[in-house]
Amino acid sequence: MQPSDLIYLDNNATTRVDPAVVEEMLPYLTERYGNPSSGYRFGQQVGKAIEQARERVAGLVGCEPSEIVFTSCGTESTNAAIHSALLMDRDRQHLVTTRVEHSATLKHCETLAKRGHEITWLGVDERGQIDLAELERAVRPDTALVTVMWANNETGVLFPVHEIVEIVRNKGVLFHTDAVQAVGKIPLALRDAKINFLSLSGHKLHGPKGVGVLYVNRRTKFAPYLIGGGQENGKRAGTQNVAGIVALGKGCELAGEFLEHEATTVRGLRDAFENGVLARVEGARVNGDRDHRLPNTSNLAFDGIDSESALMLLDQNDLCCSSGSACTTGSVHASHVLKAMGFSDDRARASLRFSFSRFNTVGEVEKALEILPKVIGKLRGLSAAA
Ligand SMILES: *Cc1c(COP(=O)(O)O)cnc(C)c1O
Repeated sequence: MQPSDLIYLDNNATTRVDPAVVEEMLPYLTERYGNPSSGYRFGQQVGKAIEQARERVAGLVGCEPSEIVFTSCGTESTNAAIHSALLMDRDRQHLVTTRVEHSATLKHCETLAKRGHEITWLGVDERGQIDLAELERAVRPDTALVTVMWANNETGVLFPVHEIVEIVRNKGVLFHTDAVQAVGKIPLALRDAKINFLSLSGHKLHGPKGVGVLYVNRRTKFAPYLIGGGQENGKRAGTQNVAGIVALGKGCELAGEFLEHEATTVRGLRDAFENGVLARVEGARVNGDRDHRLPNTSNLAFDGIDSESALMLLDQNDLCCSSGSACTTGSVHASHVLKAMGFSDDRARASLRFSFSRFNTVGEVEKALEILPKVIGKLRGLSAAA
């Protein structure tokens, strides 16, 4: 159990595993230990559980179960999509992506650039949005893949993925979207979307860590990243993480049931928090496009503070949030996302991300609204005295 007075507002870093998810996965860690690829009933029963999970994931994102490939995490899914696209055609080795991707895409593309691949990095404006005309100009006859995230993990900003797909498809180029933050927070319907690849992750939607999905459109050719046994219809070798997959399936089923709740109640918590902060703390500003944003995310800049010090004081008050993405915390670099939006190092370093989930309460928002202004005031007092 989490400490009873912990206020966990870092749900874009990871989420609490729903107790119903734990219950669903437990038998696959105990008595149902058969190998899903075995021919006898003790194995087949496990294989059936995987297929049920596949149906549940497909139900949430609106695709066919056969289009779901289970992986070890969102990062693997994203790596696998890029890897496959580059293997399809030797004459197509150019990639298009944005400057605000998660490191799963960003670092992979940087590594590929060092190996000689040409990458076009699309910038964003101060709202965190790309320029669609620039995207259109960036896609070339030798482009292997355009990869653009659906929702930004730091700001919650939503890219107009459907418009992006239209542009990319008209040029006959493959498209991948890192939807790790979008799945379970906003409705997705892949059936009519003409997206080739989509990545999602279990631990961002109240499932466990170490399980993810790559959606591969049934008409899209795919070259596997892990090669070995024939699991996952030959698309991802290795004995499946059965308990994790069963859990992810349950997590997706629940996410579907809670989509409306996310759009209303979770959004309400986020808005009450954000408006409360803006009313109580002078010089607080919202980072990112407020009109096109996940319902759960609030990224705020507080003039004159340093986010690392703020995180420490907030931690002492049992409030968990984040500066930039969790993966870069501890490093001194200002968030690449906020920098790409044209903000100064100072504003980027003065920014905090608060991300909510269905496990947060009105009481927690009220407490956070007491703690945060005090912490900001204290830090500003210290820097004024210095
Ligand atoms: C968390 C996250 C990932 C990585 O997912 P893992 O399962 O932790 O590898 C990728 N992209 C985005 C946008 C994320 O938020």
